[in-house]
Amino acid sequence: FLKIDGIRKEYGPVVAVEDVNLTIERGELVTFLGPSGSGKSTTLYILAGFEKPTLGDIRLNGQTLLSTPSHQRNIGMVFQRYTLFPHLSVGDNIAFPLKVRRKSKADVTERVREMLKLVRLEGYEDRKPAMMSGGQQQRVALARALAYDPPILLMDEPLSALDKKLRDELQHEIRRIHHETDVTILYVTHDQEEALRLSDRIAVFSKGRIDQVGTGPELYADPATRFVAEFVGDSD
Ligand code: ATP
Ligand code: MG
Repeated sequence: FLKIDGIRKEYGPVVAVEDVNLTIERGELVTFLGPSGSGKSTTLYILAGFEKPTLGDIRLNGQTLLSTPSHQRNIGMVFQRYTLFPHLSVGDNIAFPLKVRRKSKADVTERVREMLKLVRLEGYEDRKPAMMSGGQQQRVALARALAYDPPILLMDEPLSALDKKLRDELQHEIRRIHHETDVTILYVTHDQEEALRLSDRIAVFSKGRIDQVGTGPELYADPATRFVAEFVGDSD
């Protein structure tokens, strides 16, 4: 479905990502797990089209994505924070990607309602983001990212600014939403516990490379490197 093929990214003398290869099945939830500076976000930004790789290719259903500009890739995104338009209401935030795609007014109204229901925020349509909690804001960001039904959703540490209770709650919601839709999710985190809870498979990043890819139990039972053994094993 989605193939990351030999990606390398240099920023001047800094090699941010080196020889990253990964094939993702349709509907999978794969997390990029690794410490700070290991190249997780860079890989995600290359998928999103915010950055161009120095080497390598990204293919969706066999076709390269690299020649498609970011806004035409049909990839939804949720980041750690500041993802909503502060001057727009919740409803208008969710409607935004639909209006950009010139959906009819009736379709937009209907879809906004569906999305509010999906993230369990019925009744919040007219609120401004500033009047909502961090967790609620991330639900809105999720609703907006999924509004036009993109095949792929990228999430870069979407819960790391939230306290533990909200994080647990939203992890549960993300799993539910992943089950209820057929969206393929790539999820960045440096939290092993979160990765183990959410993922179908985990790609462990270290120093710009993927050390190993597998299910949580596989990584536990048979770590490919000492780094994987220590990073995955150590839940704090
Ligand atoms: P974190 O968990 O802290 O978000 P990360 O795994 O997402 O880390 P990246 O942001 O992908 O890591 O960064 C990988 C490496 O590339 C780091 O050494 C970083 O300093 C470097 N890097 C990232 N973006 C740039 C940039 N725009 N210019 C120069 N170096 C960069
Ligand atoms: Mg990052």
